[in-house]
Amino acid sequence: MDKIIKKCKACPIGCELIITEDKSNPSGFTVEGNSCGRGLEFGINLITKPAKVLNGKVLLKNGSMGHLPVKTTDVVPKNRVEDCLKIINSTEVSAPVKKGDVIIKNILGLEVDVVAARKVV
Ligand code: SF4
Repeated sequence: MDKIIKKCKACPIGCELIITEDKSNPSGFTVEGNSCGRGLEFGINLITKPAKVLNGKVLLKNGSMGHLPVKTTDVVPKNRVEDCLKIINSTEVSAPVKKGDVIIKNILGLEVDVVAARKVV
């Protein structure tokens, strides 16, 4: 992550927040552009709070289609979504696959698996 620029939605003013990864900061991030503490919290939560369950596609060999839809078994933190998708997009499996088969175990050590979202023969 380089830096992310997002509008604060904690109040109608809508300050432009610049969120940068900063390992020297206890939260792991620096937030600039906020006019108050709510903006700081909003910016950090935007990056670190869990996102929804991820959906993606892995490459499929020997199947009736080129890709297999997959999803994570739990939410993935927003700041890890990009890395998860890189792994998912570069993963290849061979048919047949049953719905729910684990395609990637414990992705990025997040204690979340990536499973097949459908059956392919
Ligand atoms: S940083 Fe503070 S003032 Fe600015 S939009 Fe967020 S809550 Fe409102």
